[in-house]
Amino acid sequence: MNQPKIWLSSPHMGGKEQFYIDQAFKQNWIAPLGPNVNGFEEDIKNYLFQDGKGEIAALSSGTAALHLALILLGVEEGDEVLCQSLTFAASANPIVYQGATPIFVDSEEDTLNISPFYLEEAIKDRLSKGKKPKAIIAVHLYGMPYKVKEIQEIATRYEIPVIEDSAEALGSSYEERKCGTFGDIAILSFNGNKIITTSGGGALVSKDPEVKRKAIFLATQARDQAPHYQHSEVGYNYRMSNICAGIGRGQMEVLDDHVAKRRAMHDLYKEFFITSENVKVLSEPEEGIFSNHWLTVIRFSENNEFSAESLRVFLEKENIESRPLWKPMHMQPVFKEAPYYGGDVASRAFESGLCLPSGSNLTREEKDRIFKALNGYFEQKKVGLQT
Ligand SMILES: *Cc1c(COP(=O)(O)O)cnc(C)c1O
Repeated sequence: MNQPKIWLSSPHMGGKEQFYIDQAFKQNWIAPLGPNVNGFEEDIKNYLFQDGKGEIAALSSGTAALHLALILLGVEEGDEVLCQSLTFAASANPIVYQGATPIFVDSEEDTLNISPFYLEEAIKDRLSKGKKPKAIIAVHLYGMPYKVKEIQEIATRYEIPVIEDSAEALGSSYEERKCGTFGDIAILSFNGNKIITTSGGGALVSKDPEVKRKAIFLATQARDQAPHYQHSEVGYNYRMSNICAGIGRGQMEVLDDHVAKRRAMHDLYKEFFITSENVKVLSEPEEGIFSNHWLTVIRFSENNEFSAESLRVFLEKENIESRPLWKPMHMQPVFKEAPYYGGDVASRAFESGLCLPSGSNLTREEKDRIFKALNGYFEQKKVGLQT
């Protein structure tokens, strides 16, 4: 079978990216600063903030943005940081870069994001042990907004800042406000498989110009104001390149189109599984929650002759990529010592869930192949059972 591979989510250029890159070459701005960096930051700001009042620092990755967010919130060695367990490892790794301890929290069923109930349990228990967590990392997983109001209410009550990991949720919104504008600090990612890409890149978002200033200071080796290279703090090399930012400017022009296409693909899956007793498509649970549906997630019901893993293997044989959900952080060997608060929502999601191809560049033929393969999988199993 030599059919071309169908990817879960692959880069999708809009057309203008090359123009901005050519400009960078013509002007010799081949550096981690320049007009594309400024332009890209401006584009993101205008996209996220209706009133245009926001501060964006374009960085080398979403992971770098998370690392700087923790530093800016004063997270140091020995501190504790609360973090959604069901997420990509990049949400949690920077906690360890700071010598702090991640405290993992389970998900809620309907969004698969951080559970307000277990979050509060965790805070209360850590406080009773004499330690106040320094920050909460909440994630809009697969583009689905977390329960912003509930989480914010808890964060405010206990006076703990929120880092909003919006790496997968550019274009999503909660009660008409864009994801990436809620946390004390938010982060975005433009890695290769995200809804828009700069090949690799990220951004730190805040409402405070001083936070942006300090983020860029730290991201450019923490140079003091002096003609010679003087440093009073440890810095990092985390700024975005002007070439990558050129790709980003082109991508911002097609972001809404990408959101529409991913949502349309999600609707096709929903329609396909609408009568299925075995499979549920993870969908927006309530009014006001708007997902970019970066990846469409399906869940198999328990005691099922079908399974996420057997479907994944079946699709792989058809040269179609699908992927298990992120393995929860509290189940990861590297974090086995970290405290965990919750039940089995995240672990069951991991066992029963699968991400299906969701790219905005899927062609008509590719979609046909996907649904033919899905039909084939469920048909084959049915026949198998009868014999
Ligand atoms: C991609 C991703 C990141 C990290 O972004 P990079 O740009 O790849 O460093 C962080 N959190 C989540 C949830 C992600 O999906």
